[in-house]
Amino acid sequence: MPYVFPPAAPVGIPVAGSDAIFPVRRVYCVGRNYADHAAEMGADTREPPFFFSKPADALVPGGGNVPYPPATGNLQHEVELVIALSRGGANIRPEDALAGVFGYAVGLDLTRRDLQLRAKDKGHPWDMGKGFDHSAPIADLQPATAIGHPRRGAIWLQVNGEPRQHGDLEQMSWKVAEVIANLSTYLTLAPGDLIFTGTPAGVSTVVRGDVLTAGISGVGEIRVKLV
Ligand code: MN
Repeated sequence: MPYVFPPAAPVGIPVAGSDAIFPVRRVYCVGRNYADHAAEMGADTREPPFFFSKPADALVPGGGNVPYPPATGNLQHEVELVIALSRGGANIRPEDALAGVFGYAVGLDLTRRDLQLRAKDKGHPWDMGKGFDHSAPIADLQPATAIGHPRRGAIWLQVNGEPRQHGDLEQMSWKVAEVIANLSTYLTLAPGDLIFTGTPAGVSTVVRGDVLTAGISGVGEIRVKLV
């Protein structure tokens, strides 16, 4: 049976040091995974992890020029370590979780903060604040076979060369293995899934024309210009 129109190709993330492409299935995100960012958002810093999603086609592989989104007056940046899974499962034990990790990347969880805060106030879903087009720029994936599983290292973001976010991966409340294990109690993870693991303090408002540069020590860097 023919499709009524050609289905969209999966979004692919280039793998550093090879000509292979990582095909993305789903994109999950952890809310508030660094205590200092939870505090700046006025939240309890010791609550268990919670999750939301972005559509896979919100990814912008490689960064570059990103259109400033509609319907917001308060676009904010969140630099995050992204986990890429090559093996899935349900109820994965933390001690087994890292074996399913293909690699890691630097990602930006761009957020229409005004829409997110309005949704929070009303108990509405976050989707329109978080899951909009081009909301997830992501750098090339670094295979775990090359870089291991980063547990510490600087995570930072600058806007037009000025420091805004700075933290260390060791400040993550829920570590990579714990994030995977916890998420897999809610649904079955699968090869191709990405997990954005939360952001350190320093989120701020950006405008058209701003250049965002961000990086994680040992994982890579990304550059985005809002156009
Ligand atoms: Mn985030």
